[in-house]
Amino acid sequence: MKVRVRLAPSPTGNLHIGTARTALFNWLFARKNNGSFLLRIEDTDKGRSKNEYTQNIFEGLQWLGLDWDDDPIIQSSRIEKHKDVITQLLKKGLAYRCYTTEKELEIMREKQLQAGEAPRYDNRHRNLPKEKEAEFITEGRSSVIRFRIEETSSVTWNDMVRGQMYWENKDLGGDMVISRRAPSNQIGDPLYNLVVVIDDAEMNITHVIRGEDHIANTAKQILLYEALGLQKPIFAHTPLILNTEGKKLSKRDGVTSISDFREMGYTPKAMTNYMTLLGWSPPEQMGEIFTLNEAATAFDFNRVNKAGAKFDWDKLKWLNAQDIHSWSSEQLLNNLNVVWSKEGWELPAKAWGLKLADLIGPSLTLLKDGLDQSRVFFEKPALQEDALKQLSLDGAKEGLKSIYDLLEENPWDGNDNTFAKNLVNISSKTLDIKKGVIMKSLRAALLGSLQGPDLISSWALLAMMKKDKDRIKDCL
Ligand code: GLU
Repeated sequence: MKVRVRLAPSPTGNLHIGTARTALFNWLFARKNNGSFLLRIEDTDKGRSKNEYTQNIFEGLQWLGLDWDDDPIIQSSRIEKHKDVITQLLKKGLAYRCYTTEKELEIMREKQLQAGEAPRYDNRHRNLPKEKEAEFITEGRSSVIRFRIEETSSVTWNDMVRGQMYWENKDLGGDMVISRRAPSNQIGDPLYNLVVVIDDAEMNITHVIRGEDHIANTAKQILLYEALGLQKPIFAHTPLILNTEGKKLSKRDGVTSISDFREMGYTPKAMTNYMTLLGWSPPEQMGEIFTLNEAATAFDFNRVNKAGAKFDWDKLKWLNAQDIHSWSSEQLLNNLNVVWSKEGWELPAKAWGLKLADLIGPSLTLLKDGLDQSRVFFEKPALQEDALKQLSLDGAKEGLKSIYDLLEENPWDGNDNTFAKNLVNISSKTLDIKKGVIMKSLRAALLGSLQGPDLISSWALLAMMKKDKDRIKDCL
Protein backbone atom coordinates (compact mmCIF):
# COMPACT_ATOMS: atom_id res chain seq x y z
CA MET A 1 0.00 0.00 0.00
CA LYS A 2 1.47 3.33 -1.04
CA VAL A 3 1.07 5.84 1.79
CA ARG A 4 -1.05 8.86 0.87
CA VAL A 5 -1.63 11.49 3.53
CA ARG A 6 -3.00 14.99 3.41
CA LEU A 7 -3.29 18.29 5.18
CA ALA A 8 -6.80 19.71 4.99
CA PRO A 9 -6.63 23.25 6.35
CA SER A 10 -9.59 25.60 6.40
CA PRO A 11 -8.50 28.99 5.05
CA THR A 12 -10.25 30.87 7.83
CA GLY A 13 -7.02 32.25 9.30
CA ASN A 14 -3.27 32.30 8.76
CA LEU A 15 -1.35 29.02 9.01
CA HIS A 16 -1.50 28.27 12.73
CA ILE A 17 1.31 26.48 14.52
CA GLY A 18 -1.05 23.60 15.40
CA THR A 19 -1.93 23.08 11.74
CA ALA A 20 1.72 23.45 10.77
CA ARG A 21 2.68 20.74 13.27
CA THR A 22 -0.04 18.49 11.80
CA ALA A 23 1.37 19.24 8.34
CA LEU A 24 4.84 18.37 9.59
CA PHE A 25 3.84 14.98 11.03
CA ASN A 26 1.99 14.16 7.80
CA TRP A 27 5.02 15.23 5.75
CA LEU A 28 7.46 13.22 7.88
CA PHE A 29 5.27 10.12 7.68
CA ALA A 30 4.89 10.48 3.89
CA ARG A 31 8.60 11.01 3.28
CA LYS A 32 9.60 8.20 5.63
CA ASN A 33 7.34 5.80 3.72
CA ASN A 34 8.05 7.10 0.21
CA GLY A 35 4.46 8.17 0.07
CA SER A 36 2.59 11.29 -1.06
CA PHE A 37 1.73 14.33 0.99
CA LEU A 38 -1.31 16.08 -0.48
CA LEU A 39 -3.01 19.34 0.22
CA ARG A 40 -6.73 20.05 0.27
CA ILE A 41 -8.04 23.51 1.03
CA GLU A 42 -11.31 23.11 2.93
CA ASP A 43 -12.97 26.35 1.91
CA THR A 44 -16.60 25.34 2.19
CA ASP A 45 -17.31 27.87 4.94
CA LYS A 46 -17.75 30.70 2.46
CA GLY A 47 -18.35 33.34 5.08
CA ARG A 48 -15.02 32.78 6.83
CA SER A 49 -12.75 31.51 4.06
CA LYS A 50 -10.46 34.03 2.41
CA ASN A 51 -8.04 33.83 -0.47
CA GLU A 52 -5.37 35.66 1.48
CA TYR A 53 -5.45 32.91 4.12
CA THR A 54 -5.03 30.24 1.44
CA GLN A 55 -1.98 32.15 0.19
CA ASN A 56 -0.65 32.45 3.75
CA ILE A 57 -1.02 28.67 4.22
CA PHE A 58 0.84 27.93 0.96
CA GLU A 59 3.60 30.40 1.81
CA GLY A 60 3.96 29.13 5.37
CA LEU A 61 4.30 25.50 4.27
CA GLN A 62 6.78 26.45 1.56
CA TRP A 63 8.83 28.52 3.99
CA LEU A 64 8.97 25.58 6.42
CA GLY A 65 10.10 23.32 3.58
CA LEU A 66 6.99 21.11 3.75
CA ASP A 67 6.58 20.59 0.03
CA TRP A 68 3.45 18.83 -1.14
CA ASP A 69 2.76 16.55 -4.08
CA ASP A 70 0.27 17.30 -6.89
CA ASP A 71 -1.85 20.43 -7.18
CA PRO A 72 -3.85 21.33 -4.09
CA ILE A 73 -7.51 20.29 -4.21
CA ILE A 74 -9.93 23.11 -3.58
CA GLN A 75 -12.83 21.57 -1.73
CA SER A 76 -15.51 24.03 -2.84
CA SER A 77 -14.98 22.95 -6.46
CA ARG A 78 -16.37 19.54 -5.51
CA ILE A 79 -19.69 20.70 -4.06
CA GLU A 80 -21.83 18.99 -6.73
CA LYS A 81 -20.20 15.65 -5.91
CA HIS A 82 -20.90 16.24 -2.21
CA LYS A 83 -24.53 17.04 -2.90
CA ASP A 84 -24.88 13.91 -5.07
CA VAL A 85 -23.74 11.81 -2.13
CA ILE A 86 -26.33 13.49 0.09
CA THR A 87 -29.01 12.71 -2.47
CA GLN A 88 -27.94 9.05 -2.44
CA LEU A 89 -28.05 8.93 1.35
CA LEU A 90 -31.55 10.44 1.29
CA LYS A 91 -32.68 7.91 -1.32
CA LYS A 92 -31.35 5.00 0.70
CA GLY A 93 -33.09 6.29 3.82
CA LEU A 94 -29.74 6.71 5.57
CA ALA A 95 -30.36 10.45 5.84
CA TYR A 96 -33.49 12.54 6.19
CA ARG A 97 -34.71 16.12 6.26
CA CYS A 98 -35.13 17.64 9.68
CA TYR A 99 -37.46 20.63 9.94
CA THR A 100 -36.84 21.42 13.61
CA THR A 101 -36.49 25.18 13.94
CA GLU A 102 -33.65 26.92 15.74
CA LYS A 103 -36.13 27.94 18.42
CA GLU A 104 -37.30 24.35 18.93
CA LEU A 105 -33.70 23.16 19.11
CA GLU A 106 -32.97 25.76 21.73
CA ILE A 107 -35.92 24.67 23.89
CA MET A 108 -34.81 21.03 23.51
CA ARG A 109 -31.29 21.91 24.67
CA GLU A 110 -32.62 23.95 27.61
CA LYS A 111 -34.72 21.02 28.83
CA GLN A 112 -31.80 18.60 28.53
CA LEU A 113 -29.55 20.93 30.48
CA GLN A 114 -32.16 21.33 33.21
CA ALA A 115 -32.46 17.56 33.44
CA GLY A 116 -28.68 17.35 33.78
CA GLU A 117 -28.28 15.62 30.39
CA ALA A 118 -25.71 16.37 27.69
CA PRO A 119 -27.27 18.40 24.86
CA ARG A 120 -28.20 16.28 21.86
CA TYR A 121 -30.69 16.19 19.02
CA ASP A 122 -33.50 13.84 20.02
CA ASN A 123 -34.01 12.48 16.48
CA ARG A 124 -37.60 13.75 16.50
CA HIS A 125 -37.92 14.03 12.72
CA ARG A 126 -36.28 10.72 11.95
CA ASN A 127 -39.50 9.00 10.89
CA LEU A 128 -41.66 11.98 10.06
CA PRO A 129 -45.04 10.97 8.56
CA LYS A 130 -45.54 12.28 4.99
CA GLU A 131 -48.49 14.49 6.03
CA LYS A 132 -46.50 16.13 8.81
CA GLU A 133 -43.63 16.82 6.42
CA ALA A 134 -46.06 18.34 3.89
CA GLU A 135 -47.42 20.54 6.66
CA PHE A 136 -43.94 21.83 7.53
CA ILE A 137 -43.22 22.55 3.89
CA THR A 138 -46.47 24.46 3.49
CA GLU A 139 -45.57 26.42 6.61
CA GLY A 140 -42.43 27.43 4.70
CA ARG A 141 -40.03 25.75 7.13
CA SER A 142 -36.45 25.26 5.99
CA SER A 143 -34.59 22.03 6.71
CA VAL A 144 -31.19 20.59 7.40
CA ILE A 145 -30.30 17.05 6.35
CA ARG A 146 -29.32 14.59 9.05
CA PHE A 147 -27.48 11.29 8.84
CA ARG A 148 -28.94 8.49 10.99
CA ILE A 149 -26.77 7.34 13.85
CA GLU A 150 -27.96 4.04 15.33
CA GLU A 151 -27.85 4.60 19.08
CA THR A 152 -27.36 1.01 20.14
CA SER A 153 -24.14 0.50 18.26
CA SER A 154 -20.56 1.68 18.82
CA VAL A 155 -17.49 2.69 16.83
CA THR A 156 -14.00 1.33 17.31
CA TRP A 157 -10.70 1.93 15.57
CA ASN A 158 -7.06 1.31 16.16
CA ASP A 159 -5.39 4.69 16.41
CA MET A 160 -1.69 4.92 15.49
CA VAL A 161 -1.05 7.16 18.50
CA ARG A 162 -3.71 6.26 21.00
CA GLY A 163 -4.22 2.56 20.37
CA GLN A 164 -7.68 1.00 20.62
CA MET A 165 -10.45 3.63 20.55
CA TYR A 166 -14.09 3.10 21.46
CA TRP A 167 -17.13 5.39 21.13
CA GLU A 168 -20.73 4.59 21.91
CA ASN A 169 -22.99 5.94 19.16
CA LYS A 170 -25.39 7.27 21.77
CA ASP A 171 -22.69 9.73 22.83
CA LEU A 172 -22.40 11.31 19.37
CA GLY A 173 -25.09 13.94 19.91
CA GLY A 174 -27.93 12.34 17.97
CA ASP A 175 -28.42 12.17 14.20
CA MET A 176 -25.72 14.26 12.57
CA VAL A 177 -26.34 17.32 10.43
CA ILE A 178 -24.63 16.87 7.06
CA SER A 179 -25.94 19.90 5.20
CA ARG A 180 -26.71 23.42 6.26
CA ARG A 181 -30.22 24.77 6.62
CA ALA A 182 -31.85 25.53 3.24
CA PRO A 183 -35.34 25.81 1.70
CA SER A 184 -36.88 22.37 1.82
CA ASN A 185 -36.71 21.78 -1.95
CA GLN A 186 -32.93 22.33 -1.91
CA ILE A 187 -29.80 20.78 -0.43
CA GLY A 188 -27.89 23.27 1.69
CA ASP A 189 -24.11 23.47 1.78
CA PRO A 190 -22.65 20.08 2.75
CA LEU A 191 -20.80 20.05 6.08
CA TYR A 192 -17.34 19.06 7.20
CA ASN A 193 -17.86 15.55 8.58
CA LEU A 194 -19.46 14.39 5.36
CA VAL A 195 -17.28 16.16 2.81
CA VAL A 196 -14.05 15.16 4.55
CA VAL A 197 -15.03 11.51 4.15
CA ILE A 198 -16.02 11.88 0.50
CA ASP A 199 -12.83 13.76 -0.38
CA ASP A 200 -10.43 11.61 1.62
CA ALA A 201 -11.88 8.52 -0.05
CA GLU A 202 -11.74 10.10 -3.51
CA MET A 203 -8.09 11.12 -2.95
CA ASN A 204 -7.28 7.56 -1.79
CA ILE A 205 -5.97 8.82 1.53
CA THR A 206 -4.50 5.87 3.44
CA HIS A 207 -3.76 7.60 6.77
CA VAL A 208 -5.57 10.52 8.34
CA ILE A 209 -3.18 12.28 10.72
CA ARG A 210 -4.66 15.22 12.63
CA GLY A 211 -5.03 16.79 16.07
CA GLU A 212 -6.77 14.94 18.88
CA ASP A 213 -9.51 17.59 18.92
CA HIS A 214 -10.92 15.64 15.95
CA ILE A 215 -11.42 12.35 17.83
CA ALA A 216 -15.21 12.74 18.14
CA ASN A 217 -15.37 13.67 14.44
CA THR A 218 -13.48 10.50 13.58
CA ALA A 219 -16.16 8.39 15.27
CA LYS A 220 -18.83 10.10 13.17
CA GLN A 221 -16.78 9.87 10.02
CA ILE A 222 -16.26 6.14 10.45
CA LEU A 223 -20.06 5.70 10.50
CA LEU A 224 -20.23 7.63 7.22
CA TYR A 225 -17.46 5.52 5.63
CA GLU A 226 -19.45 2.43 6.55
CA ALA A 227 -22.77 3.82 5.30
CA LEU A 228 -21.20 4.85 1.99
CA GLY A 229 -19.31 1.57 1.58
CA LEU A 230 -15.96 3.39 1.38
CA GLN A 231 -12.54 2.11 2.37
CA LYS A 232 -11.62 3.52 5.80
CA PRO A 233 -8.17 5.09 6.28
CA ILE A 234 -5.99 4.45 9.32
CA PHE A 235 -6.25 7.25 11.88
CA ALA A 236 -3.62 8.97 14.01
CA HIS A 237 -4.59 11.66 16.51
CA THR A 238 -1.65 13.78 17.54
CA PRO A 239 -1.44 15.48 20.97
CA LEU A 240 -2.45 19.11 21.28
CA ILE A 241 0.08 21.86 21.81
CA LEU A 242 -0.39 23.29 25.30
CA ASN A 243 0.67 26.51 26.98
CA THR A 244 2.75 26.53 30.16
CA GLU A 245 -0.44 26.20 32.24
CA GLY A 246 -1.37 23.04 30.40
CA LYS A 247 -4.25 24.63 28.46
CA LYS A 248 -4.66 24.51 24.69
CA LEU A 249 -2.30 27.04 23.13
CA SER A 250 -4.14 30.12 21.93
CA LYS A 251 -3.56 33.59 20.57
CA ARG A 252 -3.37 34.85 24.14
CA ASP A 253 -0.10 32.96 24.54
CA GLY A 254 1.43 35.14 21.86
CA VAL A 255 1.65 32.17 19.54
CA THR A 256 -0.35 32.34 16.42
CA SER A 257 0.68 31.82 12.88
CA ILE A 258 3.82 30.63 11.19
CA SER A 259 4.09 34.01 9.46
CA ASP A 260 4.24 35.62 12.92
CA PHE A 261 7.12 33.36 13.93
CA ARG A 262 8.83 34.24 10.67
CA GLU A 263 8.30 37.94 11.37
CA MET A 264 9.70 37.47 14.89
CA GLY A 265 12.94 36.19 13.40
CA TYR A 266 12.67 32.43 13.84
CA THR A 267 14.23 30.28 11.14
CA PRO A 268 12.40 27.52 9.27
CA LYS A 269 14.97 24.94 10.43
CA ALA A 270 14.48 25.86 14.10
CA MET A 271 10.70 25.88 13.68
CA THR A 272 10.48 22.44 12.06
CA ASN A 273 13.07 21.07 14.48
CA TYR A 274 11.09 22.40 17.44
CA MET A 275 7.68 21.37 16.10
CA THR A 276 8.97 17.82 15.53
CA LEU A 277 9.95 17.69 19.20
CA LEU A 278 6.44 18.87 20.15
CA GLY A 279 4.93 15.45 20.57
CA TRP A 280 7.63 13.22 19.08
CA SER A 281 10.63 11.81 20.99
CA PRO A 282 13.60 11.22 18.71
CA PRO A 283 15.71 8.09 19.19
CA GLU A 284 18.47 8.86 21.67
CA GLN A 285 21.38 8.76 19.22
CA MET A 286 19.72 11.48 17.15
CA GLY A 287 20.08 14.23 19.76
CA GLU A 288 17.75 17.20 19.72
CA ILE A 289 19.07 19.10 16.75
CA PHE A 290 18.24 17.69 13.34
CA THR A 291 17.10 18.65 9.87
CA LEU A 292 13.74 17.80 8.35
CA ASN A 293 15.27 15.05 6.26
CA GLU A 294 17.03 13.52 9.25
CA ALA A 295 13.74 13.55 11.16
CA ALA A 296 11.97 11.94 8.19
CA THR A 297 14.38 9.00 8.22
CA ALA A 298 13.66 8.28 11.88
CA PHE A 299 10.01 9.29 12.23
CA ASP A 300 7.41 6.80 13.34
CA PHE A 301 4.20 6.91 15.32
CA ASN A 302 5.48 4.67 18.11
CA ARG A 303 7.44 7.66 19.33
CA VAL A 304 4.54 10.12 19.20
CA ASN A 305 3.35 10.84 22.73
CA LYS A 306 -0.24 10.65 23.85
CA ALA A 307 0.09 13.49 26.35
CA GLY A 308 -0.25 17.11 25.27
CA ALA A 309 2.99 18.85 24.31
CA LYS A 310 3.90 21.97 26.28
CA PHE A 311 5.15 24.88 24.24
CA ASP A 312 8.52 26.01 25.52
CA TRP A 313 9.75 29.38 24.25
CA ASP A 314 13.22 28.93 25.76
CA LYS A 315 13.75 25.69 23.91
CA LEU A 316 12.59 27.20 20.63
CA LYS A 317 14.89 30.20 21.13
CA TRP A 318 17.79 27.93 21.95
CA LEU A 319 17.23 25.92 18.77
CA ASN A 320 16.96 29.14 16.80
CA ALA A 321 20.27 30.44 18.15
CA GLN A 322 21.91 27.06 17.39
CA ASP A 323 20.67 27.27 13.83
CA ILE A 324 21.80 30.86 13.25
CA HIS A 325 25.21 30.17 14.80
CA SER A 326 25.73 27.24 12.45
CA TRP A 327 25.37 29.42 9.34
CA SER A 328 28.25 30.54 7.13
CA SER A 329 28.92 34.29 7.02
CA GLU A 330 27.42 34.38 3.56
CA GLN A 331 24.19 32.64 4.66
CA LEU A 332 23.93 34.92 7.68
CA LEU A 333 24.44 37.99 5.51
CA ASN A 334 21.74 36.88 3.07
CA ASN A 335 19.26 36.42 5.89
CA LEU A 336 20.20 39.65 7.66
CA ASN A 337 19.96 41.53 4.42
CA VAL A 338 16.27 40.61 4.17
CA VAL A 339 15.69 42.12 7.63
CA TRP A 340 17.79 45.19 6.79
CA SER A 341 16.05 45.81 3.45
CA LYS A 342 12.67 45.85 5.20
CA GLU A 343 14.05 48.68 7.32
CA GLY A 344 15.12 50.50 4.14
CA TRP A 345 18.82 49.91 4.78
CA GLU A 346 20.99 49.30 1.77
CA LEU A 347 24.07 47.14 1.93
CA PRO A 348 27.00 49.39 0.88
CA ALA A 349 29.31 46.51 -0.07
CA LYS A 350 29.31 42.75 0.37
CA ALA A 351 32.64 42.72 2.25
CA TRP A 352 31.21 45.22 4.69
CA GLY A 353 28.06 43.16 5.17
CA LEU A 354 30.08 40.01 5.82
CA LYS A 355 32.14 41.82 8.43
CA LEU A 356 29.03 43.08 10.18
CA ALA A 357 27.40 39.65 10.02
CA ASP A 358 30.51 38.09 11.60
CA LEU A 359 30.54 40.73 14.30
CA ILE A 360 26.94 40.38 15.48
CA GLY A 361 26.24 36.75 14.44
CA PRO A 362 27.45 35.05 17.64
CA SER A 363 25.12 37.11 19.83
CA LEU A 364 21.95 36.60 17.76
CA THR A 365 19.08 34.49 19.06
CA LEU A 366 16.49 35.75 16.62
CA LEU A 367 17.19 37.14 13.18
CA LYS A 368 15.27 40.21 14.21
CA ASP A 369 17.87 40.91 16.92
CA GLY A 370 20.10 41.66 13.95
CA LEU A 371 18.08 44.78 13.38
CA ASP A 372 18.79 46.47 16.71
CA GLN A 373 22.35 45.27 16.74
CA SER A 374 23.06 46.67 13.25
CA ARG A 375 21.24 49.95 13.65
CA VAL A 376 24.28 52.02 14.76
CA PHE A 377 26.12 51.00 11.62
CA PHE A 378 23.37 52.18 9.30
CA GLU A 379 22.04 55.18 11.23
CA LYS A 380 23.85 57.73 13.37
CA PRO A 381 22.75 57.02 16.95
CA ALA A 382 21.71 59.63 19.49
CA LEU A 383 24.10 59.71 22.44
CA GLN A 384 22.73 57.71 25.39
CA GLU A 385 23.12 58.87 28.94
CA ASP A 386 26.10 56.58 29.65
CA ALA A 387 27.85 57.95 26.56
CA LEU A 388 27.24 61.56 27.56
CA LYS A 389 28.60 60.83 31.00
CA GLN A 390 31.69 59.18 29.55
CA LEU A 391 32.35 62.12 27.24
CA SER A 392 32.23 64.54 30.15
CA LEU A 393 35.05 62.73 32.00
CA ASP A 394 38.58 64.15 32.26
CA GLY A 395 40.67 63.34 29.23
CA ALA A 396 37.72 62.07 27.15
CA LYS A 397 37.55 64.92 24.67
CA GLU A 398 41.34 65.38 24.49
CA GLY A 399 41.76 61.73 23.68
CA LEU A 400 39.11 61.91 20.95
CA LYS A 401 40.64 65.10 19.53
CA SER A 402 44.00 63.37 19.24
CA ILE A 403 42.44 60.41 17.41
CA TYR A 404 40.55 62.79 15.16
CA ASP A 405 43.69 64.73 14.26
CA LEU A 406 45.57 61.55 13.50
CA LEU A 407 42.73 60.40 11.25
CA GLU A 408 42.71 63.76 9.47
CA GLU A 409 46.34 63.20 8.54
CA ASN A 410 45.91 59.58 7.71
CA PRO A 411 42.36 58.16 7.48
CA TRP A 412 41.74 54.51 8.29
CA ASP A 413 40.20 52.28 5.61
CA GLY A 414 38.99 49.81 8.25
CA ASN A 415 41.20 46.98 7.05
CA ASP A 416 44.02 46.46 9.49
CA ASN A 417 42.92 46.55 13.12
CA THR A 418 46.47 47.26 14.35
CA PHE A 419 46.25 50.63 12.61
CA ALA A 420 43.37 51.64 14.89
CA LYS A 421 44.99 50.14 17.97
CA ASN A 422 48.12 52.21 17.23
CA LEU A 423 46.09 55.41 17.08
CA VAL A 424 44.79 54.68 20.56
CA ASN A 425 48.26 53.79 21.85
CA ILE A 426 49.89 56.90 20.40
CA SER A 427 47.18 59.19 21.80
CA SER A 428 47.35 57.55 25.20
CA LYS A 429 51.12 57.92 25.39
CA THR A 430 51.38 61.47 24.07
CA LEU A 431 48.59 62.83 26.23
CA ASP A 432 49.19 60.55 29.19
CA ILE A 433 45.53 59.51 29.23
CA LYS A 434 44.60 55.97 30.15
CA LYS A 435 43.90 53.74 27.14
CA GLY A 436 40.64 52.65 28.77
CA VAL A 437 39.37 56.23 28.85
CA ILE A 438 40.14 56.72 25.18
CA MET A 439 38.57 53.40 24.19
CA LYS A 440 35.38 54.07 26.17
CA SER A 441 35.13 57.59 24.79
CA LEU A 442 35.57 56.26 21.27
CA ARG A 443 32.82 53.75 21.92
CA ALA A 444 30.55 56.53 23.18
CA ALA A 445 31.27 58.72 20.14
CA LEU A 446 31.09 55.99 17.51
CA LEU A 447 28.25 53.84 18.87
CA GLY A 448 26.34 56.33 21.04
CA SER A 449 26.44 54.04 24.07
CA LEU A 450 28.92 52.10 26.17
CA GLN A 451 27.21 48.81 25.29
CA GLY A 452 27.85 46.94 22.09
CA PRO A 453 30.13 44.57 20.21
CA ASP A 454 33.94 44.68 19.99
CA LEU A 455 35.05 48.31 19.65
CA ILE A 456 37.82 48.03 17.06
CA SER A 457 35.71 45.80 14.77
CA SER A 458 32.78 48.23 15.11
CA TRP A 459 35.09 51.14 14.34
CA ALA A 460 36.43 49.26 11.30
CA LEU A 461 32.89 48.97 9.93
CA LEU A 462 32.33 52.71 10.33
CA ALA A 463 35.78 53.48 8.91
CA MET A 464 35.04 51.42 5.80
CA MET A 465 32.02 53.67 5.29
CA LYS A 466 34.01 56.82 6.16
CA LYS A 467 31.64 57.54 9.00
CA ASP A 468 34.08 57.33 11.91
CA LYS A 469 35.69 60.75 11.68
CA ASP A 470 32.42 62.66 11.56
CA ARG A 471 31.00 60.84 14.56
CA ILE A 472 34.13 61.63 16.56
CA LYS A 473 34.10 65.23 15.38
CA ASP A 474 30.51 65.70 16.55
CA CYS A 475 31.59 64.86 20.10
CA LEU A 476 34.53 67.22 20.35
N1 GLU B 1 -10.57 21.50 7.85
C1 GLU B 1 -10.35 20.74 9.06
C2 GLU B 1 -9.53 21.56 10.02
O1 GLU B 1 -8.86 22.49 9.60
C3 GLU B 1 -9.66 19.46 8.69
C4 GLU B 1 -9.48 18.49 9.75
C5 GLU B 1 -9.04 17.16 9.18
O2 GLU B 1 -7.83 17.02 9.02
O3 GLU B 1 -9.89 16.37 8.84
O4 GLU B 1 -9.59 21.35 11.21
